[in-house]
Amino acid sequence: MTAYQDPAFVDETVEKYRRYVNPGLASLMEFVGFRAVEWEGDGALVRDSTGQEYLDFLGGYGVFALGHAHPAVVRAVQEQAARLPLSSRVLFNRPMADLAEQLAAITPGALQYTFFCNSGTEAVEGALKLARLHTGKTHVIGTVGGFHGKTYGGLSASGRDVYKTPFAPMVPEFTHVPFADADAVAAAITDETAAVIVEPVQGENGVIVPPDDYLPALRALCTARGVLLIFDEVQTGFGRTGALFGCDHWGVAPDIMTMAKALGGGVMPIGAFTATAEVWHAFEPNPLLHSSTFGGNELACAAGLATISVLLEEDIPARAAALGEELLAGLRAVAARYPGTITAVRGKGLLIGVEFTERDIAALVIAGFAQRRILAAYTLNNPCVIRFEPPLIITRAQIARVLDAFDHAVAGVMELLA
Ligand code: PLP
Repeated sequence: MTAYQDPAFVDETVEKYRRYVNPGLASLMEFVGFRAVEWEGDGALVRDSTGQEYLDFLGGYGVFALGHAHPAVVRAVQEQAARLPLSSRVLFNRPMADLAEQLAAITPGALQYTFFCNSGTEAVEGALKLARLHTGKTHVIGTVGGFHGKTYGGLSASGRDVYKTPFAPMVPEFTHVPFADADAVAAAITDETAAVIVEPVQGENGVIVPPDDYLPALRALCTARGVLLIFDEVQTGFGRTGALFGCDHWGVAPDIMTMAKALGGGVMPIGAFTATAEVWHAFEPNPLLHSSTFGGNELACAAGLATISVLLEEDIPARAAALGEELLAGLRAVAARYPGTITAVRGKGLLIGVEFTERDIAALVIAGFAQRRILAAYTLNNPCVIRFEPPLIITRAQIARVLDAFDHAVAGVMELLA
């Protein structure tokens, strides 16, 4: 037995979390039943240090669209790593130029110029800065329950106080209106409004799909009132909802779009925001007004290029749409057996939320999944909702396994509470 296979390896790791990382998080992870150390991943499967196998139905909150360690992405990153992992930042960086060109080709509308960073929240920061710079205005409208990250700009744009109040004051001039209510946005726009920022489908708020007329109405409104429209596609992008981007479902293009998570193919961290040439123009007088040391590094961009190739060649978004419908139907069939406990099953593609009457029930069902070696979690802004964001390469057999586990996990909780 090698050292990592010894159960003591798990104890040591948990202890290190307690001493050096985050004791509260260690307790939370143990509470929901995940007392294991991840060791290797392959497709939709993750194995822990003792060799136990888990089905990843959380998918790293949307990171693992292509699953774990997708061979094409790993190969691209390995080749790049052996030659030039990071940028000199003085010479031209070809993988970054290629990825920016690709994004211009696959993103909707006239989005053209891309700035690369390392996470979703940084992408949001850049988008907000560009919106203020381009318009010369300061007011930004976000949505109640919206989630845009945890740096100050992203947090200020987000709409849940529990993550904001302890860090007040937020960045000034942000207001929030109910999601899926274009009239509320219209009423909130002032002469000082720079931008409206929304997720095409609210992820962390419990997977809220807006009515079909919402994004088109926002587009028309922003165009008419001279306000920039920012779509945060950090979670919905790259096939997750059954289209390449969430907004593609409604045929609407933003002025600025943020991306991250799945863009790195589950292998590299990367974030980006893309804007139309007209909006981007604001950066031209000073090309270093916004910058990032690691943003756009060769490794991350090599991963992004390989990811987009796989997504397009294998038409992964269409697969997500078809499998998403099956999963949604299967979850709804199970939910119908527990009407007083499960209040909603909703989603688009393979971004699906199951809402329970109480957060404790959701936590116990997650623990039930853990017992059955299935990774799941609740949404950050609504702990009553368990989210399912499996890799888009998930198989039908794996979906069937999860549906069976879901039924048994809920039944087990019902027995416990009876
Ligand atoms: N925007 C959206 C829509 C997200 O879902 C998230 C993360 O879940 C973020 C931004 C922040 O991304 P990151 O955690 O990479 O900073």
